[in-house]
Amino acid sequence: MDKRGVPVTINGAMGEGGGQILRTSLALSLCSGKPFRIINLRSRRKKPGFRHQHLVCVNAAAKIGGARIEGATLGSQELVFTPTTIRPGHYHFDIGTAGSTALVLQSVLPALLIANRPSTLRLEGGTHNPFAPTFDFLQQVFLPIINRMGPKVEACLERPGYYPKGRGRLSVTIQPAKKLRAFCLHERGKIRERRVTATVAGLPRDIARREIGVIGQKLGWGEECLYIKEEPADMGPGNIVTIEIKSEYISEVFTGFGERGIRAETVADKAAKAALRYLDAGVPVCDHLADQLLLPFALAGSGSYNTLKPSSHTRTNSEVLKLFMDIGISMDRISKDIWQITLSQA
Ligand code: ATP
Repeated sequence: MDKRGVPVTINGAMGEGGGQILRTSLALSLCSGKPFRIINLRSRRKKPGFRHQHLVCVNAAAKIGGARIEGATLGSQELVFTPTTIRPGHYHFDIGTAGSTALVLQSVLPALLIANRPSTLRLEGGTHNPFAPTFDFLQQVFLPIINRMGPKVEACLERPGYYPKGRGRLSVTIQPAKKLRAFCLHERGKIRERRVTATVAGLPRDIARREIGVIGQKLGWGEECLYIKEEPADMGPGNIVTIEIKSEYISEVFTGFGERGIRAETVADKAAKAALRYLDAGVPVCDHLADQLLLPFALAGSGSYNTLKPSSHTRTNSEVLKLFMDIGISMDRISKDIWQITLSQA
């Protein structure tokens, strides 16, 4: 039977039960040409079903995949997505709110990586959102790994967009590869560069000063690693603090997001704890990157990486992948804090 004709059925309540199931399904449907039907979308979230940002992902994927969509309306928990062929080209997607541009990119980038022509994307919305990869994470962590797999992807931040205002803009150019190259990432090598940057937009500089102070002290890093960046007030209010760790074989970025009512010290402490956990474990791949690498590694057909204990996002993503592709995914604990994720042809 033609696999393209039979929709893959996905229960959106599985595992994490959030929006990631939708984004991964969109990406895999575009890459494989297989239609899918999702039910119970985001049923484990406080406000289940489609929210605006998820509709933007569906519409972007539908445009790029020439897809027919049924059921994508605000609050709905069902969707049928039937793609035709991938249409690489020049696209502009404006989220219209502070919704994350990176999450729209997650939905459409995989297909454009293996398309037959280059593409450019212009994305408007949030570029530094909580619960999503920030622009810095995309540029320094995720895309360098994608580029090691064959494609050439460059991202440029034209204007930052902080939550809750948004209005950020980024552009992405994608030179695809016929097939993604598999590789293994078991070591991070020597640490070459460490940097903490606290950014404030339209907020007092003192917030940033307190954040770098806490992180410098928790990580034991000196003044030479600590930076403050002040953005123009009209981009605010916004505050983030990033901890960059550049090692021989990989870079990682940990982010703290300032929030009204949350003390700068608390924001900084949370980011420092995530970085310390990574540093202490000695792994190359942090938990966020671990869930994001599954899909490109699956497209490559194999590969392996060492990471922290797999999150429920990672486990859920792995289940979604197996619904679309014949791929084996194992997650093995190889020492107290180190797990190895291995993908292989089933
Ligand atoms: P929704 O809230 O829309 O239902 P979800 O709960 O499924 O979505 P999120 O928890 O928002 O999804 O995570 C979305 C993606 O963002 C995941 O791939 C996750 O790894 C990534 N992510 C979240 N926070 C960060 C971060 N600080 N740095 C890098 N990536 C992150």
